[in-house]
Amino acid sequence: MTHREQKTVVIVGGGQAGLSVSYYLCRKGIDHVVLERFGKFHSWRVNRWDSFCLVTPNWQCRLPDFPYKGNDPDGFMVKDEITDYLDAFAETFNPPIIEDCSVTRITKRPGGGYLVDSSKGNFTTDQVVIATGGYDNPIVPPYTDQLDPSIVQVHSVDYRRPEQMPEGATLVVGTGQSGVQLMEDMHLQGRKVHLAVGPAPRSPRKYRGRDATDWLYEMGHYHITIDQHPNPEHALTKTNHYMTGRDGGHEIDLRKFALEGVSLYGSVAGMEGQRIRFLPDLGTNLDDADDSYIGIRQAIDAYIEKNNIDAPAEPAFEKFWHPAQEITEIDCEVEGITSILWAIGFRPDYDWIDVDVFDPRGRPVYDRGICREDGFYFVGLGWLNTWGSGRFLGIDEDARYLAEAIEAYIKSGLLVAS
Ligand SMILES: Cc1cc2nc3c(=O)[nH]c(=O)nc-3n(C[C@H](O)[C@H](O)[C@H](O)COP(=O)(O)OP(=O)(O)OC[C@H]3O[C@@H](n4cnc5c(N)ncnc54)[C@H](O)[C@@H]3O)c2cc1C
Repeated sequence: MTHREQKTVVIVGGGQAGLSVSYYLCRKGIDHVVLERFGKFHSWRVNRWDSFCLVTPNWQCRLPDFPYKGNDPDGFMVKDEITDYLDAFAETFNPPIIEDCSVTRITKRPGGGYLVDSSKGNFTTDQVVIATGGYDNPIVPPYTDQLDPSIVQVHSVDYRRPEQMPEGATLVVGTGQSGVQLMEDMHLQGRKVHLAVGPAPRSPRKYRGRDATDWLYEMGHYHITIDQHPNPEHALTKTNHYMTGRDGGHEIDLRKFALEGVSLYGSVAGMEGQRIRFLPDLGTNLDDADDSYIGIRQAIDAYIEKNNIDAPAEPAFEKFWHPAQEITEIDCEVEGITSILWAIGFRPDYDWIDVDVFDPRGRPVYDRGICREDGFYFVGLGWLNTWGSGRFLGIDEDARYLAEAIEAYIKSGLLVAS
């Protein structure tokens, strides 16, 4: 029979979410181990491009008992500063982590608890926390293999810098936060960029004297829980608002980039050989993004007015570029496009979890991270409880809550004898 080490709790994933839970378990003296496929904070250290910086302001970095204490709370840390911050957090409590350890299977243990198989040994455990993030499998559409193989295809997770892309123009697909930042990264380097604009909303950055996120925080936006949200399904599935923290932070108006020479199209509909087809939705997608931008401005205006706050006025928003026509097909050879940069998101991978905690669509089912199977939890996912649950802002609260649930379960005496 395979030897199995017994742990009271196994945490899978050594990112900010897993290590935040570990922090509270250490404080409570609860026996546990963190199993991490690569190295701790791998996603921040490895899966980000060179010019990466936070989109959320530094003050939102609130890891457990370790809030950002630098001298630029309203700024946006760059990649190395982020990993320094994370490493300094981990040094405060020396987590019991096993690195280069991939969890390959989790099953229920006959009689209670769980069996955890990993590349560095197997465990039995009473409780399991899944903290693997939501970014396992980069999404690419099925028709990518019909594209002429001479056109290089790269996913945002593998993008590092403009020089990595072949000479010639690049088509960036997707206008979530990553897509617009990669587009800007290449554009600022003087590269010719084509951009397939999707339905993502956008946000103002600085508005009426403060960062829009400061206003939204003060307005209680980030305290709304998924249970209180007027449209929870929409909250769970919608793309994030785009803007950037680059160079001190600024908003991204794609119309401005069009004026500067970036070629805009609607969503990609298909690809074959050298030809790429687009939906005729560029005008609608730009308008919708602007509507969300204007909606946020209006909500801030209303808050300022209601509370009689002295805040500087802003000029009215203007749409200073409109597509002359909807282009629905281009030829890469004619446009000089030699590469495609996919930035249309990720899917989590839970194939290795053989426990009944998923809905028919494969999404984990929980209440604030606590699953219907005793002692099984998720943490670190967007809207697990609030907007900040999948980000730096909300992870402390969620980790503390789960650590208390884990402790309560131990004290309840419902655990089976190991
Ligand atoms: C491009 C990008 C930009 C972002 N910008 C911001 C921002 O500006 N502000 C903000 O607050 N948030 C931002 N986020 C969101 C969020 O803060 C990060 O995604 C963060 O890394 C999430 O932390 P996590 O611990 O939940 O997941 P991760 O950091 O992804 O950690 C999960 C860990 O689990 C490990 N793992 C996975 N499967 C297994 C397995 N089977 N066995 C063992 N280990 C496993 C992985 O190797 C990984 O290290 C951004 C996310 C992305 C993708």
